Amino acid sequence: MPTVLIVDDNLLNLELAADVLELAGFDVMMASSGRESIEKAEQAIPDLVLMDLRMPEMSGLEAMQALHNNQITSNIPVAVLTASAMKGDEERLLQSGFSAYLQKPIDPSRFADQVTELIK
Ligand SMILES: [Mg+2]
Repeated sequence: MPTVLIVDDNLLNLELAADVLELAGFDVMMASSGRESIEKAEQAIPDLVLMDLRMPEMSGLEAMQALHNNQITSNIPVAVLTASAMKGDEERLLQSGFSAYLQKPIDPSRFADQVTELIK
């Protein structure tokens, strides 16, 4: 099964997404900061990173850019998973380099299918 690295500074968000994907059979890794996500992505080369946007110290945008600028992790797609849903956000985030846009709160009945689509 594909490996997905979920990044979120909110532990409840992190565990909910992880539980849903683990139940669907994914290999799930978790990171609670941008810095940690870079370390884990370098170690495990996941098939996909699901990245929160608003995190202290290093934002999801900064972490995505660091992953893309890192030789080891530059080919890993990074999807943004965010509650930010202002008009124009999706387009702006995709233009900034995220491979896909998923909205929080996640819908547990659809989330695994949405993630599967991103890995195909
Ligand atoms: Mg956050």
